[in-house]
Amino acid sequence: MSFPRFKLVPGPIDVDVFGWELTGDRATGEHIVECHETFHPHDDNADIEAALTWADGIIGTKQVWTHVREHGFDRWEAGARDEEPAAADREPTPADVRALIADATALQERIRDIERRLRGSEETRHTAFRLDDAAGRLTDVSQALEETAGELARVRAVRDGSVCAVPWGVCPEHGNTLVSSGGRARCKTCGRTWNYDRLGVPCGEPLTHKVTDAAGGSFLACKAHAMDASERLVGGTVTPLDKDGRRD
Ligand SMILES: [Zn+2]
Ligand SMILES: [Zn+2]
Repeated sequence: MSFPRFKLVPGPIDVDVFGWELTGDRATGEHIVECHETFHPHDDNADIEAALTWADGIIGTKQVWTHVREHGFDRWEAGARDEEPAAADREPTPADVRALIADATALQERIRDIERRLRGSEETRHTAFRLDDAAGRLTDVSQALEETAGELARVRAVRDGSVCAVPWGVCPEHGNTLVSSGGRARCKTCGRTWNYDRLGVPCGEPLTHKVTDAAGGSFLACKAHAMDASERLVGGTVTPLDKDGRRD
């Protein structure tokens, strides 16, 4: 897999200032981050041309730029390197994991295409029999990646405090009613199932209540964990957060 060495992206570069940001790594390992205001505010094509020339000047050699449009946003990429150095050490995001799903899906389509074409001829038909199975396995790969992305998203949400961080899961409706086995969890009361060990990971449900114990210590929790706490707390209080999620 190769990654672009240089990226040129239009966007805000300061408060109320629109322009271009060039990022990348020189062959020497030196990291580049440079910004420039929009060159030609009233002529998009001239602006892009000027930006590419400006970027070439900073990099020091003329690049072959590729226009990439993704999710409605433009960027230009040039150069290639084998690994993305900035990505090597940082924690992968759910989006990184989901990007692999796109790769798996694309590979699956390519295998199916080869299979179809091999089956199209009497001479090559017998060579295609493994490919149906091979393509099918990529469905499992995608599913494993999707579950990984979901679990990672929960871990990150718990960590940044935007969801309930009680270290065990609940049924959002019934509370402490989960049983867990074989990497799956089920609510004993309603029968709802989760395809991960929900009981063994932090809760991750939306925050709805503030739980304060008798000593004055407090934490935010989801409805089910707040109700659970209110049954156990001696001398503590459980108060709903208001609609704006204000915490006091
Ligand atoms: Zn339930
Ligand atoms: Zn909770």
